[in-house]
Amino acid sequence: MDIRAIEERYTSGVYPKRELVLVRGEGVYVWDEAGLRYLDATGGQGAALLGHNPPAVRMALQEQMNRLMVCPEIFYNDQRAALLRALQEVLPGNREWRIFLCNSGAEAVEAALKFARLRTGRSEIIAARRAFHGRTMGALSATWNPAYRQPFEPLVPGFRHIPFNDIAALEAAIGPQTAAVILEPVQGEGGVWPADPAFLQAARALCDRFGALLIFDEVQTGCGRTGRWFAAEHSGVVPDLLALGKGLAGGFPIGALAFPAEWGPMPVGAHGSTFGGNPMACAAARATLETIRRERLVERAERLGADFRERLRQLRSPLIREVRGLGLMVGVSLRVRATPVLRRLMARGVLALPGGPDAIRFLPPLIVEAHHLAEIAAALEEALVETSLPVPSTLEESP
Ligand SMILES: *Cc1c(COP(=O)(O)O)cnc(C)c1O
Repeated sequence: MDIRAIEERYTSGVYPKRELVLVRGEGVYVWDEAGLRYLDATGGQGAALLGHNPPAVRMALQEQMNRLMVCPEIFYNDQRAALLRALQEVLPGNREWRIFLCNSGAEAVEAALKFARLRTGRSEIIAARRAFHGRTMGALSATWNPAYRQPFEPLVPGFRHIPFNDIAALEAAIGPQTAAVILEPVQGEGGVWPADPAFLQAARALCDRFGALLIFDEVQTGCGRTGRWFAAEHSGVVPDLLALGKGLAGGFPIGALAFPAEWGPMPVGAHGSTFGGNPMACAAARATLETIRRERLVERAERLGADFRERLRQLRSPLIREVRGLGLMVGVSLRVRATPVLRRLMARGVLALPGGPDAIRFLPPLIVEAHHLAEIAAALEEALVETSLPVPSTLEESP
């Protein structure tokens, strides 16, 4: 039985595959079927926030599995109540939040878009260029990359995109017709671009002026990734709607959308999800939040992330254009395409992600240690030495 052949034959085909069959994970490492070990700086696309098979999450899941696996939100549940309360302790701003629980980041974004339209009675949504919010029809309408969008048009009407970090463009676009502005406080899949605090502050003020809502998509930046519980805290801006996903349940599927408690509950029937708020995901998320707090992983992300970026900046490769990021969300923008470099990193036992066409994105688990980050930086240096400079464009373009 060849695992790759079976997948190649029967899967949908929508993912670019790497030549690697992963069968086991622990902490920052994963192993392939031949027993080769890899340092995982993809962190399961950011979902393995505590590393692979974190003991606390594993135990919470095992215990919950033996008690109750299924409990839709038409009933109350102890695990869900505990998670809703635990989230109050960490969500930003001095306010209480209501939370719609779901199963993925895109679903959290869908909920944000629906609730924004419901609350304002308006339909227009302003998003940013390079934004990534997911691939369902609503979230895709907020996503910018034309390659993801065009085959599926017409998308949901009422969306427009402005340049990220451009206050004047936002001011020109927003108005009394705007339901919401949706932003990632650090653009992730677009290439790790932190928002200027001034841009987010201006977005807050403009939304307030026109009665529009501010949505932060913290699916990738949330739960300590950027060295704060939420990336919003770097600017002091509190959004009206906050979307979470990825690492919230330590690798177990979950999504969440928070909105101010002072709005009161949404109308019955306005939204819903069969698996939303299920006790397994809630137990895993609560164990994750507890672990982040107990092990002081937020502070750790800030400290280790800063050291890691400094180390990357010291690499003397002519192929590095810029090192960007916040906390343990780190991007290295290159003068060459990212994919061949990712392949060379993999050959050196390091797994990383692309961020846009020409950046390498590192999302190591928050439990990573300084020596792992040093290994990653060393592997990148070697991979870049092996990668040649691009042909100057004047030569490439000459007839
Ligand atoms: C990954 C991501 C999403 C989509 O999450 P899924 O769980 O894949 O649906 C949305 N927004 C941001 C910022 C993300 O990084």
